[in-house]
This record gives sequence, C-alpha cells and structure tokens, in this order.
Amino acid sequence: MPILSGMARVAGIAGWPVTHSRSPRVHGFWLRRYEIDGAYVPLPVRPGHFDTAMRGLAAAGFAGANITIPYKLEAFALCDEMDDAARRIGAVNTLVFKDGRIKGSNTDGFGFIANLRDHQVDPAAGPALVLGAGGAARAVVAGLAALGAQVTIANRSPARAEALAARFSGVGVVAWDLRSEVLRDHSLVVNATSLGMSGRGELKLNLGLSHPALVVADLVYVPLETALLRAARHHGLRVVDGLGMLLHQARPGFEAWFGVDPTVDQELRQFVAADLAGG
Ligand code: NDP
Repeated sequence: MPILSGMARVAGIAGWPVTHSRSPRVHGFWLRRYEIDGAYVPLPVRPGHFDTAMRGLAAAGFAGANITIPYKLEAFALCDEMDDAARRIGAVNTLVFKDGRIKGSNTDGFGFIANLRDHQVDPAAGPALVLGAGGAARAVVAGLAALGAQVTIANRSPARAEALAARFSGVGVVAWDLRSEVLRDHSLVVNATSLGMSGRGELKLNLGLSHPALVVADLVYVPLETALLRAARHHGLRVVDGLGMLLHQARPGFEAWFGVDPTVDQELRQFVAADLAGG
C-alpha cells in the first residue's frame, strides 16, 4: 500500500464476517493502478452495531462503504436517500457519505448487466430465464426488467418466485420442474441459485433442450468454471461466468469515493481469480 497523505480518501467493506470478501483486493488493485491517495479496508462490524458503526465512519470522514452479508437490509433502512436500483431491489450494497448525509445504492444489477455487455451479450435481446429468487436473483431481475427485457423466474420454492415477480411489472413465473423444458423459448438463462458453488450440489439443467443461440450465465464464481458452464461449452453455447459481475459491481462505489471509473480487464480478472483458486 502506498504512503497516505492527510488528504487520503478512505472507504471499506462492512459485514460480519468480512474475511471472505475479495473487495479489498479489487479496490486495492485499482487504487494502486490509478496511483490514488486512498485506502479501502475490511470493516468487521459485530451484529447489533451496524448503525453505530456506519454513522461513526461517516462522522470520521470516510468516503463510504460497501455492505455485505448480513447488513444489506439494515443499510437500506439507514439511508437518507437512495437510487432507483436500491429501491427496486430492496437492499443496499454501497454507501456514500457526503455533506452529513448517507446515500445508498445497489450496484449488483449494474454489475450483472455490465458484465453481459463486456461479453458482447445484449441483455434485452430476447426472453431471459432467471433461476433462483434470493438476493442475487433480485438484483438480476431488477437489472433486466429496467432494460425492458422479458423475464421469467423459476425457483425451488414457488412462493419466493411469485413474491419476487410481483415486485416488477411483466415478470412471469414458471415451475422449477419445467426449467429445462422452457429453455428453448429463452435467449438467456441465469443461474442465480447457490447450486454449483463448491460443496452445494449441482444445478440440473438439460441444455440439450435449449435454443442454439442461448447464452448461459452463472453468478457462482467459486469455482469459476461451474459444471453448468462446462456443460454449456460442451453444447457449443456462449457462457458468462460470475467473476465479471463481482468486479463490475465494484465500479460505481470506487468512482463515487475515489473519482475514477475503473476498468475491468484481464489483468484484474487474473489477479482476483488467482486468489479465488487459492481458496
Ligand atoms: P440466497 O441464499 O439469497 O438464495 C439462494 C437461492 O438458491 C434461492 O433461490 C434458493 O431457492 C436456491 N437454492 C439453494 N439451494 C437449492 C437447491 N438445493 N435446489 C434448488 N434451489 C436452491 O443467495 P444469493 O441470492 O445471495 O446468492 C446466490 C448465488 O449467487 C451464490 O452462489 C452467490 O455466491 C452468487 N452471487 C454472485 C454474485 C456475483 O457478483 N457474481 C453476487 C451475489 C451473489 P429457495 O428459495 O427455494 O431456497
């Protein structure tokens, strides 16, 4: 880390625990690349202390913070103002402290869409099937719906799929057991479940039933190449892995705190992927 001046801007990632987070690595890479007088630090905030910790950071002159598990809903409740994405998603992952006010945003949907575009995939080119209805699926559905894409959700627990679809106009639901059969009607399928993560079991999806132009996106990034993406490649389908979303979602916060919209490129991908591979 470079020597900081008295003018240094400081931000960090608040969660409990935060030891698993790759955000300090991502932001640290950019701070070094752009030779910025700033720092980005892990902020392990004990349960019950989130509000005090965030107001304390703001009072101490921090530029802002990323928010991870389990505080994204508490962050939502804390904000003085927030952007449309945070409102639509119902959770906040980025805080900016400015002029005594706390502004919240949710950049996961932005990260997902930016990553698709990085892979030359038009997110709204055709109907999208989103598998899952948890926090990540919410951000994906919000991102796609904001672009006017036609979205259908399939989730193991149907009530959660219905509840997510009800937050957006024109979003449909299909039974979990029909997820393979409906593939042929979609140009994009997104795994937003935790299936495929190391130790979580595999997502069963019959890609043999898909349209040849189907794009298969997986939000899981540990492992980087999931069994789903391997199978998709085997079927000659285009794939998008989860690492790019993780990197792109960090951009708006970095720009707000440090004044540069940073680039996501191969060097950064390799820097973070090497860390993921090392556990
Ligand atoms: P949640 O716990 O909020 O949601 C988990 C989802 O997975 C639910 O839809 C759940 O279904 C489904 N699920 C879990 N187990 C099974 C199973 N055995 N069979 C079928 N469905 C199952 O998790 P998140 O939404 O926060 O995260 C989901 C994934 O996205 C994780 O792998 C996470 O790492 C990844 N992620 C990646 C990001 C990135 O930047 N690339 C950002 C955020 C998340 P049900 O409702 O029925 O329980």
